[in-house]
Amino acid sequence: MITITFPDGREQEYAAGTTALEVAQSISEGLARNVLAAKVNGEVRDAQRPLTEDAELALLTWRDPEGQGTFWHSSAHLLAEALEALYPGVKLGIGPPIENGFYYDIDFGDHEISAHDFPKIEEKMKELAREKNEYERREVSKAEARSYYEEKGDPYKLELIDELEDGTITFYEQGQFTDLCRGPHIPHTGKIKAVKLMKLAGAYWRGDESRKQLTRIYGITFPKQKELKIYLERLEEAKKRDHRKLGAELDLFMFSEKVGAGLPIWLPKGNAIRERLMAFLRREQERRGYEMVTTPHIGHKLLYETSGHYEKYGSDSFQPIQTPREGEEFLLKPMNCPHHCEIYGHRPHSYRELPMKIAEFGTVYRYEQSGELHGLARVRGFTQDDAHIFCTTEQLKEEFLDVLDLTTLVLNKMGFADFTAQISLRDPDKPEKYIGSDENWDAAERAIIEATAEVKMKTTTVKGEAAFYGPKLDFMIRDAIGREWQLGTIQVDYNLPERFDLEYIGADNEAHRPVMIHRAPFGSMERFLSIFIEHTGGNFPLWLTPDQFGILTISDRFNDYAHEVQQELATADIRGFVDGRSEKVGRKIRDAEVAKTPVMLIIGEQEVEENTVSVRLRDRGDMGSMSVPDFIEAFQGWVAEEDATGQVKNEE
Ligand SMILES: [Zn+2]
Ligand SMILES: [Zn+2]
Repeated sequence: MITITFPDGREQEYAAGTTALEVAQSISEGLARNVLAAKVNGEVRDAQRPLTEDAELALLTWRDPEGQGTFWHSSAHLLAEALEALYPGVKLGIGPPIENGFYYDIDFGDHEISAHDFPKIEEKMKELAREKNEYERREVSKAEARSYYEEKGDPYKLELIDELEDGTITFYEQGQFTDLCRGPHIPHTGKIKAVKLMKLAGAYWRGDESRKQLTRIYGITFPKQKELKIYLERLEEAKKRDHRKLGAELDLFMFSEKVGAGLPIWLPKGNAIRERLMAFLRREQERRGYEMVTTPHIGHKLLYETSGHYEKYGSDSFQPIQTPREGEEFLLKPMNCPHHCEIYGHRPHSYRELPMKIAEFGTVYRYEQSGELHGLARVRGFTQDDAHIFCTTEQLKEEFLDVLDLTTLVLNKMGFADFTAQISLRDPDKPEKYIGSDENWDAAERAIIEATAEVKMKTTTVKGEAAFYGPKLDFMIRDAIGREWQLGTIQVDYNLPERFDLEYIGADNEAHRPVMIHRAPFGSMERFLSIFIEHTGGNFPLWLTPDQFGILTISDRFNDYAHEVQQELATADIRGFVDGRSEKVGRKIRDAEVAKTPVMLIIGEQEVEENTVSVRLRDRGDMGSMSVPDFIEAFQGWVAEEDATGQVKNEE
């Protein structure tokens, strides 16, 4: 008998050789139907492989990312099987699962393939799936593996086999198809109910431009038709909300080849959003005792050698800048922390001054590969909402609480109601990986765990994910269409205070090392706004939107009055534009709608005579005529009641 331990700690005896699938069956038929793979002592395996010794066992279903990965990897094999059936003689590269779905790299020889062929291939995949062919694992010798692919004439698989060690090679077979594969796989093809091929791309064999270009086919599959439908709808919605598209349509930001790829340029409207968000953050931080600083965009190489960043970013990022003086080198700053350490070290500190919180909207530069660049989400120059807190170990928890409170406040204000935190702790089995004493680590980890528990934040905890210099917490948010994004970090650091020899004088009159907390809860303004633009679909909340109103005149005879109203609103800090063009008002309304202007103030004969404006809201339609003071009051009310989704709420 063997003892199986389940994730909830429950233990049960089974006969040696029982498979994970049989274990699932012993629990319930329903569970067995849903099992895609099994995690045995931390390793993902086929659910149909026998368990031969005592093990910790987790049964993986569609709900587990590893279950999905196994499902999609198995779908890649199904795609290859369909392609071999439809296009005999195709040669196969590799076919892994990816974040959403899978791909397979194929050499079609002389055959031309296009997206027009997708329906036929999808049909074939579904037909083969209905055969419910089992994915069978078979251990093969290197010689056997070689001879199979020599006969088949597949140079790619042969190259892969050459790099494997004899005795570690496995084949997986389903139906008429065999693949060189480490696995694991789902029990049978019948689990795959919905199939969609997404796109074609060229891919050099092994990513090497000097090698042959293969055809990469991307696809996605689901265990239910309905899930595919939801996925495709979400994809369509995401396309509409793409921040690169909205950024151009709403004139928020641009890129210029002459300025350089990955270096965003904020246009007036986008910059207005950015400035308002920064002003809001600045105010909240100052309220919490942060002090703003400004540091240069470059730093002496010595600074980054001291911090260790030169080692990390030196060769893979922007190269040092030479000066006319021989041997003098500067780096574009990849991080603000070293500058802030210098600020702390600039004069002596007493424990009474701690915590010291230094904040900066600091722009940093890191060289990203051009293929990695993506709108504002992945750039080469970005501004972090950065701050460094220097404190004592005893103050860690309170400081964490304060950062959690600030982050929660801002996320709520931005309309992100659904967020979680991932806590990354050290790997208790590998103490040699980490610097700093055990007591310090214990204290820091406890501070994070207690602080998140105290504010009842939803968390997941991962052991072994901490940096070598301290534990951390990352924020994950869910946007309006259900996608998850990782934001910034709160990171405890015992390393930099050491490297910069930072000290404070304690109550005992002795010198002590402060602890440093890095925190950039939103990561960078660029990335955060890219997520926010997609979250709102460009319908920004009133307090943040670049133009809060547009005054649309029915005739240009009323333009003077329109400008008077604009002035009056400006004194109440309500900002917007006058559309005084000689266009029909219907056209002006349409244009204001396209620009997603939340409030339209329409001015005609009657409004001028009665000294009013006719108010029309993006979300509520016509609100009737109001005097300007009444409108100001109403507007301020709408800003105050702006709900969590950033929309103007309906009056109850
Ligand atoms: Zn495989
Ligand atoms: Zn930092």
